[in-house]
Amino acid sequence: MRILIANDDGYLAPGLATLVAAIQGLGEIEVIAPEQNASGTSNALTLNRPLQVFAGGATQPGLRFVNGTPSDCVHVALTGLLGYRPDLVLSGINQGANMGDDTLYSGTVAAAMEGYLFGIPSVAFSQVDKGWMALDAAGRVARAVVEQLLAQGLTGQPFLLNVNIPNRPDADALPRRITRLGRRHASEPVIRQTNPRGEPIYWIGPAGDAREAGEGTDFHAVAQGCVSITPLQVDLTDHARLPDWRSRLASRP
Ligand code: MN
Repeated sequence: MRILIANDDGYLAPGLATLVAAIQGLGEIEVIAPEQNASGTSNALTLNRPLQVFAGGATQPGLRFVNGTPSDCVHVALTGLLGYRPDLVLSGINQGANMGDDTLYSGTVAAAMEGYLFGIPSVAFSQVDKGWMALDAAGRVARAVVEQLLAQGLTGQPFLLNVNIPNRPDADALPRRITRLGRRHASEPVIRQTNPRGEPIYWIGPAGDAREAGEGTDFHAVAQGCVSITPLQVDLTDHARLPDWRSRLASRP
C-alpha cells in the first residue's frame, strides 16, 4: 500500500504532521506539501513559472515541499515525481472546516480531488474549528477511516471523500454521518483598509454562515457532534435544467 499525503496549510502545519504520524504503519508514505499556506487556492495549477521540489531536511525526513499549490503538489507527484501510482491520496488535516461551498475554494479538498481526477481513491480531512484543538483525536479519526477503507479494499471506482472532524478529544468515539454538502450564505463583505502609502487595500471577508444546514448535511452532522463524511463528485453540470436550457438556447431565433 502506497499512500501520498498533501495538504494546503503548508508543509510545516501541525495538521500535516499529525496526519502523517497517524497513518504510520498502514503503508509506504510519501509527503509532498506546499511550501506556503495555500488555503483557498482551490484547484489552481501553476502554469506561469516552473516548480521546484525541496527536501524537508533533517527535521522532516521523507517530506518534500513544492513552491506551488496543493494541486501542484499532487499533480507533480502523480505525473513524474513519484515514478509510481499511489494507491491512496490523503489531504490535511486542515485547520478549519471544509463544508458546503467551502469545498469549491478549499485547497485541502483540491489536493484530494487531484488524486481523484487521476483515478485514485482520495480523502480530505479537516478539523471543524481553527486552532488545532484536539488535533491528536482528529488524527485517530483519520487513521480509523483509512484502516476501514483499506480493510474493504480500494479496488473498483475511485472515490473522493470529504471528512470534517469536530475539535473534541473524544472525536474518534463520535458517531459518523454520511452527508451531503450544505450551503453557506454569501461571504461577509470585503474589508477595505488603507495601506501605509495611502492606497486602498482589500481583505476578502470571512465565509458566510450556514444557510442550508438541514438534516443530512455536513453542517448538521457536525452541529450534532458527529464526524461528517461527504462523498464528492466533480461533475458540476446542472443536469436537472439541461432540458430547459436546450429549449432556450440550443437553437438560434
Ligand atoms: Mn487550509
